Amino acid sequence: MSSERLYTTEAIIVRRRDQGEADRVLTLCTPQGKRVVIARGARKPTSRKAGHLELFARVQMVLARSPTSWDVVSQAEALDLHAALRGDLVYGTYARYIAELYDRFVTEEEGGPALFDLLSRALDVLSQMAAEGIPSPALDLLVRAYEQRLLTLVGFRPEWDRCVGEREGRPCGRVLPVRGKAPLGLDPERGGALCPQCFQAAADRRWVIPLSPAALGLLRACQRLPFARLRQRRAAPPLLAEAERAMRHYLTYHLEQDVRTGVFLRQVRRNIATPHPAMPEEN
Ligand SMILES: [Zn+2]
Repeated sequence: MSSERLYTTEAIIVRRRDQGEADRVLTLCTPQGKRVVIARGARKPTSRKAGHLELFARVQMVLARSPTSWDVVSQAEALDLHAALRGDLVYGTYARYIAELYDRFVTEEEGGPALFDLLSRALDVLSQMAAEGIPSPALDLLVRAYEQRLLTLVGFRPEWDRCVGEREGRPCGRVLPVRGKAPLGLDPERGGALCPQCFQAAADRRWVIPLSPAALGLLRACQRLPFARLRQRRAAPPLLAEAERAMRHYLTYHLEQDVRTGVFLRQVRRNIATPHPAMPEEN
């Protein structure tokens, strides 16, 4: 194997699936973009790479370029295994959701260092939370903040400051209130929130749903505040649920289908008292 064919990269494993007798196909988030590669023999008990190629792990890799197929993992050394995220159903499901959103919004060969840093940081914070046993609302706020940042980086940044509505053919642009009772609207098609007047005028449009000023305030905070500051923030369960519904609606519109792990995450929370609900197939 000539040295020109080899290259080194850092990578986070966002998805893995078995291939053939003993191989694994890995979907990677790297600073150069999303890649799909193959780790030959990774499922053999004797494989030296196997322990380094866990889901959510951040890994230093040497890869061999293949002109006709997936690039091949030649060497792998885990820099951070994020082990706490695989041993726990709740934190693990949040981690899957975070990784899956990257996978769904970023197509192969796209993405770059900012998306890699975001995913890496989000998994680090989630790992710390798992180690310290920090429960919701901090977990939910982390995920809401991650969604906002991811959407910004892939070009779907939601507009929470000014009304995205149009009246009489002109952009509205009013500053949106985060206090008061008058319902606002969420319009994923126009990419943000609507003032009360534009919401009333647009209520018959298929994708427009109501949004309370308090939920808008929470989403705005998640868009602006660093992850560390959000850990201190308090939010009542109904408000968290509304913010989650709003983001699910927004993401679904842009993905045109529900995010699979998101559905599972909601089941886990509903059945939190039920022991050992089945995890979805790792793939
Ligand atoms: Zn308006």
